Amino acid sequence: MARRPVWTSKPSAPKQTPMYFSAVIVAAGASSRAGEGPRKPWRRVAGRAVVRWSVEALLSLGAAPVVVVIADGDEANAAEALAGLDGWMTVPGGAVRALSVQNGLAALRGQPDDQAVLIHDAARPFVAESHVSALLAALAGADGAIPALPVADTLKRTDDAGATITAPREGLHRAQTPQAFRLGVLRRAYAAWPAEAGEPTDDAQVVERAGGRVVLVAGDPRLMKLTYPEDFAMAELLAQTATITRVGQGFDAHRFGPGDGVTLCGVRIAHDRSLIGHSDADAGLHALTDALLGAIGDGDIGAHFPPSNPRWKGVDSGVFMRHAMELLHQRGGRLINVDVTLICERPKLSPHRQAMRERLAELLDLPIDRISVKATTTETMGFTGREEGLAAQALAVVQVPA
Ligand code: MG
Repeated sequence: MARRPVWTSKPSAPKQTPMYFSAVIVAAGASSRAGEGPRKPWRRVAGRAVVRWSVEALLSLGAAPVVVVIADGDEANAAEALAGLDGWMTVPGGAVRALSVQNGLAALRGQPDDQAVLIHDAARPFVAESHVSALLAALAGADGAIPALPVADTLKRTDDAGATITAPREGLHRAQTPQAFRLGVLRRAYAAWPAEAGEPTDDAQVVERAGGRVVLVAGDPRLMKLTYPEDFAMAELLAQTATITRVGQGFDAHRFGPGDGVTLCGVRIAHDRSLIGHSDADAGLHALTDALLGAIGDGDIGAHFPPSNPRWKGVDSGVFMRHAMELLHQRGGRLINVDVTLICERPKLSPHRQAMRERLAELLDLPIDRISVKATTTETMGFTGREEGLAAQALAVVQVPA
């Protein structure tokens, strides 16, 4: 897939140098503390599988590829959880986390040693652009960069009799993921890890042991690891802050001319006239495309597909809408629902509403109950009433990273 750059600031200020990275997401753990039900990566938070949150976020920030390390037998779970996303692959996990990470690194053998790689736990769903930018910036001057939080609570140890002893907390931090390294540095560090040292509990430890310098960037409570059943209730609350809902609206009209039918919302409908336009004159799809572009603040259909370009002559307007959907996905966004209103006296559209919903469900890859197509007249008033043309209005609701 095409690599998309991560900018150290927003793409609207493209003076920054783009940075490229790959990612390994470890989703093969036993989830032994998380209570009953599916294992953590496959449980849902705000309607999305836990693992999908970070895969979507890292893909949208330019990670290429994203390697998801899964337990034996989880192939179908991964395919379902990550359906519709491009640029990820799965590899089987090992008996312990460190072996799973190394399996993920093996899948990146074609990537250059100096490329940055982020190693991430699937159980930390809320990775944001700010985390990735900070890690990649810090990696420029170190062998590794990790997010960490200072320890705020007083630390207690208990003795054999159960009595407390206060432990010093100065200089202590809680390490989170994703953790950033140069691929070559991490590969060599794992190769040098001595068996007698036991199991490392994170990747920074492996690089430290090999003599590498790992630096801290500011951690974030939102990078919490879902460990216990009660953590999922907190994750539902955090999910509400991780995305924002945006609405776009679109309007389009086309003039009737001679012909034998119209195409609306991707469905051909017989009529004693046709709609005139540069493309297939599907006013429904044009209004909906503008609604999608409006929701992400990215211009309008005319800016993306100028009528002056002969390439778009007679084209299926589904092409325009799929492009708008691709732009939404590139921002890590997803479509929630759409509502289209078609305005004309004739042809009578109500018999075709269900077919139009079904066609939109295909084009948008959305359940049909999130798609509304309505038809109305203007009671013979105005240009639609005089049957000079047909108009369409659309609304699209999307969720994008906050
Ligand atoms: Mg149009």
